[in-house]
Amino acid sequence: MKPTHIEHIGIAVKSLEEAIPYYEKVLGLECYAVEEVADQKVKTAFFKVGQTKIELLEPTCEESTIASFLEKKGPGVHHIAFAMDDVNQALHDAEEKEVRLIDKQGRNGAEGLKIGFLHPKSTGGVLTEFCEDPKKK
Ligand code: ZN
Repeated sequence: MKPTHIEHIGIAVKSLEEAIPYYEKVLGLECYAVEEVADQKVKTAFFKVGQTKIELLEPTCEESTIASFLEKKGPGVHHIAFAMDDVNQALHDAEEKEVRLIDKQGRNGAEGLKIGFLHPKSTGGVLTEFCEDPKKK
């Protein structure tokens, strides 16, 4: 396995509404999608920077993992997502190298991507996501 590029960087925010203007007015990026991912109890906003995206994550309820992240660490970089050709294979390969997984199998993420997370305990403290775009197959 080898990532093809950084698919996105996930950033935890308290409020999309308050966070979006920095990306639009200061950086000059355009928010091209806002999407709620019920599964993960978050509302997301996306910006493109070349091939890579910025994904802002706002919790939709107290039980959201983003809500506990905000409580513990405050707003900021939450995870990094690598684009992989085959998420299930990549998760399997990581597990064989004794990396602790959060997801043993890919599941549905925002934008129709198949995603899976590695545990930050095994990745030097960086919550790491693998992403596969089924449309690219
Ligand atoms: Zn992500």
